[in-house]
Amino acid sequence: MNEQQILRAEVISKDQMQEPSRRLYLLYHELRPSESQYSYVVETGMFEKHVELFVQLRKAKSSGLWPEVTFDDGHISNFEYAAPILQSRGLTAQFFITVGWTGNRDGYMGWPELRALHESGQSIGAHGWTHTLLTHCTEKDLQTELSTARLTLEDKLGTSITTMSLPGGRYNRRVLVACEKAGYLQVYTSVPRAETLPLGATVGRLNIRGDMQPEWIANLVQPDRSALSRVGRQYRVKAAAKGLLGDRLYEKLWALLNRKEPDSDAGGDNAE
Ligand SMILES: [Zn+2]
Repeated sequence: MNEQQILRAEVISKDQMQEPSRRLYLLYHELRPSESQYSYVVETGMFEKHVELFVQLRKAKSSGLWPEVTFDDGHISNFEYAAPILQSRGLTAQFFITVGWTGNRDGYMGWPELRALHESGQSIGAHGWTHTLLTHCTEKDLQTELSTARLTLEDKLGTSITTMSLPGGRYNRRVLVACEKAGYLQVYTSVPRAETLPLGATVGRLNIRGDMQPEWIANLVQPDRSALSRVGRQYRVKAAAKGLLGDRLYEKLWALLNRKEPDSDAGGDNAE
């Protein structure tokens, strides 16, 4: 390394130091050029406004949370609309793919689109094989949903795949252990919360609806986290109503035990 290279390395690391380490991961699904009555479909015009906000927050080196974009399912609109919009603003996102749908389900990306997406610098992760809720899977099904999905993506794209997003956001301790065994380093959930880099084993996300204005997102990522805390509380109330509690304890256990096998009765359904 010559002196100039060393100097440049110092500049880069100083720059990186200035990047806030707190993030808010956002979860998108499908984009459409026109309005839709489906609550999780986002109009392309609205997505452009969101992206503009993300660019502004990065430019301002805002001291709040930096939004990060993720997409679940592998809808064709991710390739047709989302990727060009992101690329035009120099942003990248993570696209979680339902691998068994690739190339054989109408409305979803095929391998050529996925390859192009990967080659253009976007990140690819897995979203199961059939989109079955993992909490309902047998051990054998989990193998297909997790291992086969990962190995197929790696084989077809020629890259290592280490992230997984949970279909329907559903998980428990058994699912997290299976994800780890299948070779995933991070599991993305639908629990809205702030994350700190470097990321832990589970990554919370805010599910984005079509009616969420950029101003509303801007409010959530402010240094004062009261708006995000409120959203987190609302999520927990809804999850309680749907009988989805218990996840957070499983998650903590998984993080704690890290690479070790958890003991069989370590779970608990009373935890939040
Ligand atoms: Zn999904």
